[in-house]
Amino acid sequence: MTPQAFGRRGEVLAPHTSLRIGGPADFFVRVVSLEDLEGAVRVARASELPVFMLGGGTNLLVADRGIRGVVLENAWSEAAIDGTTVDAAGGTPLAHVAAVAARAGIVGLEWMATIPGTVGGAVHGNAGAFGSETADDFVDATLMDLTGRTWHATKEMLGFAYRTSALQKTTTIVVRARFRGRAGTRAEAVARIKEMANERAAKQPLAQPNTGSIFRNPPGDAAGRLIDACGLKGTTVGGAIVSTKHANFIVNIGDATAADVRALIDGCIAAVRARFGITLVPEVEMVGEWE
Ligand SMILES: Cc1cc2nc3c(=O)[nH]c(=O)nc-3n(C[C@H](O)[C@H](O)[C@H](O)COP(=O)(O)OP(=O)(O)OC[C@H]3O[C@@H](n4cnc5c(N)ncnc54)[C@H](O)[C@@H]3O)c2cc1C
Repeated sequence: MTPQAFGRRGEVLAPHTSLRIGGPADFFVRVVSLEDLEGAVRVARASELPVFMLGGGTNLLVADRGIRGVVLENAWSEAAIDGTTVDAAGGTPLAHVAAVAARAGIVGLEWMATIPGTVGGAVHGNAGAFGSETADDFVDATLMDLTGRTWHATKEMLGFAYRTSALQKTTTIVVRARFRGRAGTRAEAVARIKEMANERAAKQPLAQPNTGSIFRNPPGDAAGRLIDACGLKGTTVGGAIVSTKHANFIVNIGDATAADVRALIDGCIAAVRARFGITLVPEVEMVGEWE
C-alpha cells in the first residue's frame, strides 16, 4: 500500500478534539480492532511515516498547521470483566470502563466515569480525579512499538507519577490495559458516579469546548487558584478565554485557533511566575507542527 492509499488525506483534526481546534493530518486512519491497529502500524512503517496516536483528543492542543505523518484515531472499544478486574482495549472510553464495572457490582473505579478520553490516553498521562489516579487501579497492560512488537508491561515498568508515565514523549502504544476494583454493589457504584458527575458540572465549564485542566497543580497549590489570584479569569485572546467558572480551564468560545490558546497559556505562565515565582507546567499536550 502506498502512502497515498493510506487513510484519509488532510483530515482536519479540530472535530476530533474536545477543544475543537487543530489543523489537518497528512493521513488519518480510524482503527476499530487489533487487526486494524497492527495493519496501520505496519503500513506506516513501510511508508516511513511518523505516527501519532489519537485517543479521545481530550488532552490535546493540536497546532493550526496540523500533524505531519499518520494520525491513528483509536476507536477500538472493548471491555470485559474477570472477577473484580476490567480488561479493556486502548480505545475504550474510560467512562465505559466505569460503567461496565458498576454494572458488574465492582466499586472503586467510579472516578473513571468523570474523565473523558480513552484507556490509552489515561494510562499515557496517568489521568486521575477525586483522589484516585490510573496508577492506583492499574494492573498491567499490553504495549506495542512502531515496529509492531508487543510486550506485557507491569505497573513498575510504566513509571507512573502525577499526571505522567514513562510513555510520555514516546511513541509506544497502549494496546490494552487491566484495572482492578473491589467487590461491592451496582447501586453503590452508580450513586457514587452520579455524585461525582454533579460535583464536576457545578465547578467546571463543561458546556463549552475545553480540554480539562490546562496546567498541572504545583506541589501544595492549585493552578486555578494562582491564575485566579492574578486576575486572569475572563481574559481572552481571539476566540479563547480563561474560563470565568474555573481559572484552570481555557474554553473555545467559537473560533479559537491553537495560537490563541497557546498565547493564553503563555500569558498565564508569565503572570503566575511574576506574582508567585511559580512556573506552571501545562497538563495539556501541545502537538503537531508549530510555527
Ligand atoms: C471536560 C474535561 C475534563 C477532564 N478532567 C480530567 C481529570 O479530571 N483528570 C485528568 O487526568 N484529566 C482530565 N481531562 C483530560 C483528559 O480527559 C485526560 O488526560 C485523558 O486521559 C486523555 O485521554 P485521551 O484518550 O483523550 O487522550 P488524547 O487527548 O487523545 O491524547 C493524549 C496523549 O495520550 C496519547 N495516547 C492516546 N491514546 C493512546 C494509546 N492508546 N497509547 C499510547 N498513547 C496514547 C496521545 O498520543 C497523546 O500523547 C479532562 C478533559 C476534559 C475535556
